[in-house]
Amino acid sequence: MPIDARILGGPAEDNAALVRVDTGSHVSLLLFDCGEGVLSEERPGDIQSIEALFFSHYHMDHVAGFDSFFRHNYNRDDTAVHVLGPAGTMDLMAHRFQGFTWNLHHDQPGVWNVTELDFSQGRADQRVFLAREAFASPSPVSRSELDRQSYRGQKITVVYETEHLRVDAVALPHGNISSMGYRVTTPATVSVNRHVVDSLGIPPGPWLQDLKSDSTENVIQTPNGERDRSELRSAILTENEGESLVYLTDFGIEPDDSEWDRIVQWLAEPDHLICECQYRHAESGNAKQHGHMTAENVGKLAAQSKARRLTLHHVSRRYDAEEQAELLAEAQASFPNARWGWDAAEK
Ligand SMILES: [Zn+2]
Ligand SMILES: [Zn+2]
Repeated sequence: MPIDARILGGPAEDNAALVRVDTGSHVSLLLFDCGEGVLSEERPGDIQSIEALFFSHYHMDHVAGFDSFFRHNYNRDDTAVHVLGPAGTMDLMAHRFQGFTWNLHHDQPGVWNVTELDFSQGRADQRVFLAREAFASPSPVSRSELDRQSYRGQKITVVYETEHLRVDAVALPHGNISSMGYRVTTPATVSVNRHVVDSLGIPPGPWLQDLKSDSTENVIQTPNGERDRSELRSAILTENEGESLVYLTDFGIEPDDSEWDRIVQWLAEPDHLICECQYRHAESGNAKQHGHMTAENVGKLAAQSKARRLTLHHVSRRYDAEEQAELLAEAQASFPNARWGWDAAEK
């Protein structure tokens, strides 16, 4: 599986998700949220390899560990650090960068691309902050339309993209603010079915690359002469859809809400759904009041969106181990393939 994720932090602690996308020739590390202590067990080399940090929102339990991330990466010398989050990201990061005395920074590398997503205005604003300027003179705001792309028959909002992966976002209701949900997908790949090539008696060669290309020519030149391109494509090529992982935290929806159907549709059968699991269903009043999910509804959400696997995190501190087992059972009632993130880490 090219996408792998670990929940950082334990039960009743701040949590985050460290996502690793391994294509076989390249590894990308992405961090989703950065609460207090979430990086304390991570190797410095790994923290320094995180290429992008995505914030769901800026309640303290999701950003209290940022200083640790910053300390490891403020003067990174190879690649820029990307930080993305909802409205307020730019100011909030600027203030965090200014929370230190800077007097030995003039020769320091360190480039930070900070992007603020504003779904209500349909735009993304970005500024670049430099360590050598003590992060004090960021570039002017570069404003762009949010990038809409297609995914499984719907339009999605892509907020970060490299040749190895794509991240799109959705705004979730969390009380009277928005919390960003994120999905990581790997590109679809096309593979060649070698034994079909052999059975057709055409020697392999550069024509196979041509066949995999998106050429619109009707015919293709093979060592055995011209052949019908679409016939060969359907005989020889297999499309492998990319993998998907979704990170959701701090939101509250119920099956009867209008938001429920929108989010089920956006989820679109994720291979792996990581979701908050804050309250027992018996406390749905509390869940509603604080803009969080109940375990029962998390299970239903995973089932209705046809997720393949569900990892739970962000449980309320009020529950002891026994009650956490009950929350898990509530989620598993609708979605048996559910686990707590910290249990998965022990295996
Ligand atoms: Zn929150
Ligand atoms: Zn939270």
